Amino acid sequence: RAKDEGGNGLCFFDPAMESLVLKHAALAEDLRDALRERQFLLHYQAQVSGGRLSGAEVLVRWQHPDKGLVSPGEFIPLAEETGLIIPLGNWVLETACAQLAAWDDDPLLSSLTISVNVSFQQFRQDDFVDQVLATLRRTRANPERLKLELTESMLASNVDALIERMYALKAKGVGFALDDFGTGYSSLSYLKRLPLDHLKIDQSFVRDVFIDSNDSAIVKTIIALAQSLGLGVIAEGVETEEQRDYLVSVGCHACQGYFFSRPLPVEAFETFVRKFQRT
Ligand code: C2E
Ligand code: MG
Ligand code: MG
Ligand code: MG
Repeated sequence: RAKDEGGNGLCFFDPAMESLVLKHAALAEDLRDALRERQFLLHYQAQVSGGRLSGAEVLVRWQHPDKGLVSPGEFIPLAEETGLIIPLGNWVLETACAQLAAWDDDPLLSSLTISVNVSFQQFRQDDFVDQVLATLRRTRANPERLKLELTESMLASNVDALIERMYALKAKGVGFALDDFGTGYSSLSYLKRLPLDHLKIDQSFVRDVFIDSNDSAIVKTIIALAQSLGLGVIAEGVETEEQRDYLVSVGCHACQGYFFSRPLPVEAFETFVRKFQRT
């Protein structure tokens, strides 16, 4: 594509670069087809709070016809670059809200929340708030059970507009978590102004919590910060019982990670919930 645009982007020839650009273009093309052909699906990962299952985070997957299951790390950045994140994000939200509404009839599932990851590209759309509210109405999902996960990078520009949108959704009951907390550069003064419900401790700190004393210090600091701001805190990437026990001992009661469950297709997630709630 760099070629089509002319200019001096490719005035030297680098075969590795050339092949990367071609691969990239092919994947972008595949991504467009994927939306049309409904090759995306959602996995649900349990969130556990105080020993109870409190909700699930939805994580999108791409069932590629040749490549198999592709993880979002590979295609979300591309979807953001190409603008396809808007229709993809709408589909994720719609599917998640429809799932919330479907769980209404089942006493084991009807109290669960669903957390949806939102890209900055989506959130900054002028009609984002209307889109979310329209989706909630259309699917008859309870807004109180929908949580949106934002990232610190969203705080880099036009925070006032961001805060206004958050309040508009908050007024209808929608909750917010700040994802991957500690990896970005959010200013504490902004943090105070955002109507957040939770901070999510990034998995990189949880992973090395027993290996790197800096990470355990960061974990404790995030928990203290959340407490002083009156926010809940969720640790992500909890893989072992030792990590869970440590987190609980320093005051983090909500966890998510392979120790409890991998992200699962919806049927498997429901089975997991039934087993978990009965034990
Ligand atoms: P995230 O929101 O921080 O999601 C957590 C990631 O950690 C997920 O990766 C999840 O599968 C993985 N994970 C969960 N528990 C563990 C654990 O115990 N150990 C380890 N090592 N990893 C664990 P995944 O599913 O590959 O998603 C990666 C990122 O892609 C997400 O990070 C999120 O930023 C983005 N993403 C996923 N779905 C969506 C979506 O629907 N929309 C948008 N905009 N972004 C999405
Ligand atoms: Mg997330
Ligand atoms: Mg995260
Ligand atoms: Mg993360």
